[in-house]
Amino acid sequence: MSPTLLSVVVPMYNEEAVLHQLVARLRPVLDGMDVPYEVVAVDDGSSDSTAGMVQQIRTEWPQLRLLRLMRNSGHQAAITAGMTAAVGDYVVTIDADLQDPPETIAEMLKTAQAENVDVVYGVRSDRSTDSVFKRQTAALYYWLMRRVAGPHVPSNAGDFRLMSRRVLDAVNRLPEEGRVYRLIIPWFGFPSANVYYERDKRAAGESKYPLGKMILLTTESIVTFSGGPLRFATWLGVLSAIACVFVGVFVVVGVITGQTVPGWASTVLVVGGIGAIQLFCLGILGEYIGRIFTGTLRRPLYLVGYDSLTHGDNAPGAGQNTAPGQTAGNRDNQ
Ligand code: UDP
Ligand code: MG
Repeated sequence: MSPTLLSVVVPMYNEEAVLHQLVARLRPVLDGMDVPYEVVAVDDGSSDSTAGMVQQIRTEWPQLRLLRLMRNSGHQAAITAGMTAAVGDYVVTIDADLQDPPETIAEMLKTAQAENVDVVYGVRSDRSTDSVFKRQTAALYYWLMRRVAGPHVPSNAGDFRLMSRRVLDAVNRLPEEGRVYRLIIPWFGFPSANVYYERDKRAAGESKYPLGKMILLTTESIVTFSGGPLRFATWLGVLSAIACVFVGVFVVVGVITGQTVPGWASTVLVVGGIGAIQLFCLGILGEYIGRIFTGTLRRPLYLVGYDSLTHGDNAPGAGQNTAPGQTAGNRDNQ
């Protein structure tokens, strides 16, 4: 048992606009829970004053810890960094923008202890504050994920969840680099429970998840979990081969009976169609081969540039980058 019961991991990417509101709501909740805790603020390569502000707040809030990544590594990598560095027996990951209410953390810990479960998912009971577009794309995402990763993936559970040390150990032993936790954690199969909460609007600042990042997350989710698309490519190839046989028969019959058509349209159609299918299949293959490639490189998922816990209180840290390569998120180091 570590002396810290609860670690709260908060990934932050250019969150200066919301930081003070976050602290004003998070701190009373955690202080009120009356358990030893730490808050791991993971600064994901922000270009604004997020890190400096956290460092400032740390002077009055000793349980706040700053972890700076060398560059923007993405939401999932920032969560990984925080979860790896966290020392608590339980770890909660929560967004910085107050869309996930900090008050729910107390309920999560209570549920985990009372029901003796290893995972407590924060499930959104109400997404009415999200835009219609966000809701529709989210619904499509969870539908797709259940088809790809199995029916155990809870709907509308994002990255607001509590995990026990057992789950953390399992996560840290994972060999792969591209991890989508909302699929991996249910896939482990640890005993779990749900707590429901209403998803608020982002308290301040802009979303750091534009459409491009959402598409990346979906692609990552599918290809880290399923060879299905590869099979799809195979079937598409088989189907187009069968279609080609029919076209071949049609052409031969046409030639024999002397009914040769001018043929321009059909030629263009067939050449274009086959070309498109080939390109599509090549694209899918590329998704996997690209990941095999980066996997064999064994590049670290992130680099921790600074950790206030190991640097003591008077470390330079905020506002400047410390020497590179101090801690790598490579599995060899875990
Ligand atoms: N985030 C991050 N790195 C990124 C993008 C986002 O650490 O590259 C953090 C961000 O600061 C926030 C959380 O991930 O705490 C979720 O991002 P956001 O609220 O912008 O996403 P949305 O709720 O719009 O999907
Ligand atoms: Mg948000």
